[in-house]
Amino acid sequence: MSKFIFVTGGVVSSLGKGIAAASMGKLLEARGLKTTIIKCDPYLNVDPGTMSPFQHGEVYVTNDGAETDLDLGHYERFTNAQIGHDNNITTGKIYYNVITKERRGDYLGKTVQIIPHITDEIKRGIKKVSKEKDIDVTIVEIGGTVGDIESLPFLEAIRQLMWELGENYAINIHVTLLPYIKAAGEHKTKPTQHSVGRMREIGITPHILLCRTEKHMTKEQRDKISLFCNVDREAVIEAADVKHIYEVPLALKKEGLDDLILKKLNIKREDKDIKGWKNVVIKRLKNPEREVKIAVVGKYIALPDAYKSIYEALCHGGIANNAKVNVVRIDSSDLEKAKADNKFKDVCGILIPGGFGDRGIEGKIRAVQYARENNIPYFGICLGMQVATIEFARNVAKLKGANSTEFDKDSKNPIISLLEEQKEVKNLGASMRLGAYPCKVLKSTKSHTAYKKDNISERHRHRFEFNNKYKTGFRKKGMIFAGVNATQNLVEVIELKNHPWFVGCQFHPEFKSKPDKAHPLFRDFIAAAIKYCVQK
Ligand code: GLN
Repeated sequence: MSKFIFVTGGVVSSLGKGIAAASMGKLLEARGLKTTIIKCDPYLNVDPGTMSPFQHGEVYVTNDGAETDLDLGHYERFTNAQIGHDNNITTGKIYYNVITKERRGDYLGKTVQIIPHITDEIKRGIKKVSKEKDIDVTIVEIGGTVGDIESLPFLEAIRQLMWELGENYAINIHVTLLPYIKAAGEHKTKPTQHSVGRMREIGITPHILLCRTEKHMTKEQRDKISLFCNVDREAVIEAADVKHIYEVPLALKKEGLDDLILKKLNIKREDKDIKGWKNVVIKRLKNPEREVKIAVVGKYIALPDAYKSIYEALCHGGIANNAKVNVVRIDSSDLEKAKADNKFKDVCGILIPGGFGDRGIEGKIRAVQYARENNIPYFGICLGMQVATIEFARNVAKLKGANSTEFDKDSKNPIISLLEEQKEVKNLGASMRLGAYPCKVLKSTKSHTAYKKDNISERHRHRFEFNNKYKTGFRKKGMIFAGVNATQNLVEVIELKNHPWFVGCQFHPEFKSKPDKAHPLFRDFIAAAIKYCVQK
């Protein structure tokens, strides 16, 4: 039976609970334990798929096609866990299930209530994941901050679970903030005392406190927190700011977090150093041999979380090439006004990520044109591939009015049009082409050089596709259809013949990249970018 770590947050949001949870997973996995994560999100959307990236940040897509919270992306990057539909529990999903059961008559005439019906559904969801996958330790992260009305049913559910499971089977790790007050020259412990007080009102006394700090905390502060919060002194862990998120597992190991968790859960495992992670990630991340500037041209540039996996995968591509990737974020709408040339003067590669809607589309097309005409390495992902084919249609194949029917329903040349299976879709939620699909890779292409495989599988999230009607004509003009889905006859990867590195893919490779195992396309894109700037 799985043991449980319930991760909660106090004082403020954005404390990095997700990174902390992923780091715990990394450390426990290193000690031979099979772990998984469940992210509980206290909003009423069934999943984040219908939310704007400005609201929610990136939507992370799993192999089985779930649209989930980006924290699950951290977990897949840090560990070997396979994440799926059931690993993201939202209030919306819970209510949806309970109301469906009520309509079916499953509750046999009972009054359906938050306690016990909603809380039972949450508990069922949590237990299901750990049981099905034969997990040693299940990490459950409760989104939001203690004190939020929304997260109360989740906290009540985990209180019950902790009570039912008992000592040594379930612990609560509370992530909190020690704000540094400059004028006083010290960290303050009061907000932490208050937030632990809130937890105790609910009936949960944290076993471990992860204290986020700007600077190191003093012995006196540790003693004070321990005494006022009923937490062992050794269990007051400092989680000081680090430069890079991939350092967090190492910093927490230094603080003895893995030993402490094992002790509290009564699990005996030999201590193991996470050498591989240390060497590859930290050495190369901290002491890169070179730097490379990559432009990311998108619509949600203002919010770093909106393209989270893209930025991480670029960083991994850098690690694989011993390079630090400096990302220049360019709002595609700006390219519609300014001359594109100024923006790209000293970049070594251009990447256009996925997206929806027509704002900034013409700017993206200009960016593609600039990359194609100036031989700058180009990597187009999903919408980034679609705009690359539109640009090619307009400026190389000279097709008038070429567009995607997403932006111009009556386009004379619909290079990108709706997938057949999408034509009947009425509800927008969870109805795109989602998750892993196979793709055949053509030999002697940049993609084949990268993957070194004829058959690959990548994750998708789109409604529109390349219109096969244009395939023959484009091929004659120098476009290579380097990847196809053979069963559905869909274009998955395009490349350009006379260009050093120009690759567009309909899928999202960024979801499968890891710091110690960069995705082959990101690795080769960065390699091409480095080469371009050296030669320039
Ligand atoms: N909007 C495009 C589509 O639905 C691209 C989607 C994406 O980039 N994720 O096909």
